[in-house]
Amino acid sequence: MSFDQLGLSPELLRAVADSGYADPTPVQSEAIPFVLDGRDLLAGAQTGTGKTAAFVLPMLQLLHQSTPTSGRRRVRALVLVPTRELAMQVEQSVRTYGARRPIRSATIFGGVGFHPQVRNLRSGAEIVVATPGRLLDHVRQGTIDLSAVEILVLDEADRMLDMGFIRDIRLILERLPAGRQNLLFSATFSNDIRKLADGLLDRPAQVQIASRNTASELVAQVVHPVDRERKRELLSQLVLSRTIDQALVFTRTKHGANRLAEQLDRDGIEVAVIHGNKSQPQRIRALADFKAGRVTLLIATEVAARGLDIDALPHVVNYELPMVPSDYVHRIGRTGRAGVDGIAVSLVCVDEGPMLRDIERMLGHAIPVEVIAGFEPNRNIRPEPIRLRTGQGQGQGRPRAAGPRPAWTPPRRQRRRTRPGAFVANHATS
Ligand code: AMP
Repeated sequence: MSFDQLGLSPELLRAVADSGYADPTPVQSEAIPFVLDGRDLLAGAQTGTGKTAAFVLPMLQLLHQSTPTSGRRRVRALVLVPTRELAMQVEQSVRTYGARRPIRSATIFGGVGFHPQVRNLRSGAEIVVATPGRLLDHVRQGTIDLSAVEILVLDEADRMLDMGFIRDIRLILERLPAGRQNLLFSATFSNDIRKLADGLLDRPAQVQIASRNTASELVAQVVHPVDRERKRELLSQLVLSRTIDQALVFTRTKHGANRLAEQLDRDGIEVAVIHGNKSQPQRIRALADFKAGRVTLLIATEVAARGLDIDALPHVVNYELPMVPSDYVHRIGRTGRAGVDGIAVSLVCVDEGPMLRDIERMLGHAIPVEVIAGFEPNRNIRPEPIRLRTGQGQGQGRPRAAGPRPAWTPPRRQRRRTRPGAFVANHATS
């Protein structure tokens, strides 16, 4: 399938060619014709599949094709996203793909001034890319009019629900006119997502790229059991032995990210940190340094890393497992994109055994376990409850039970012992 078989206009095809894309990704070739047909869409696709272009390209075409109902420019397309990073990236795609016939767009997200956004809206944005909380503020203040919205996109809907946005989303939906086209993209399909989709979508076309709750098949996954206090040492060794050249490293908290960065810095490893307390310029600089290869490890919390546009990332390291199993899928979706084989490495201590089991249950298979020689877990260390000192959108995580729990042992059939730094790079399919 090539791009010119999808029904896109010549100017959009030129914009796609300018972006250097030779062929559509599966989500693009499947979704674009449905969207151009005016159908509602339910798409199962995670970050890295090319899902953004799958809705931005046909959305631009539909907006170009029809003329607004009134002479005045009004918001005609609304894209709801979970984070400001993703909002900025989606709007960037709008600009890139719309370069040959620009449509005015605006981003709306919290943590920045309200009034510049009002000015931007007043100047006649036809496409608005927004996080739900700040958008609702604008709705309540009467600074945005959503009564002319023709196309609604919920991007990374599962993530928005995980972050507790469901109420805001429902309040926003009440302000939208009937008879619009609705597109819902989600990496995973919980019952809550199904409920939202059932109420929102009218006989939707369905596209499923990553199968239900399955991590990207391009990503090899491995768990390295390690003692709680030796994770940093192990990570340093993986980097210094060149087993890991460059990686996005996830911690659960902002405090944990800062502390890890300081320690790795002392080990002589180039690191940058990206989390909710970092200003936008700091985040942009960290990402630029990482992309340019000036930084070996980009340490990030869940929310901050969401939607980061990083191509060809070979490694994702879960320095700490996420509290919410679906976040694991999102995290490892950062690698294995655009044909690059990715490896997702999880450093798992005895406290995290139950979380690992939850993740494996959701994946429907076990993750291969590899003990790195010299880092064999000490079996006398007892599990401790996990405390989230600085929450980062983790409020929905289940509280971990306090008190002793039996020490975690990896499944025997998968336990392996290899030379330091060696990977089990097979795909987990059991
Ligand atoms: P997304 O899943 O939308 O976050 O896109 C993931 C990455 O794939 C982005 O860096 C896009 O620039 C890139 N991409 C999108 N469509 C294509 C395509 N057809 N061919 C190659 N890369 C693409």
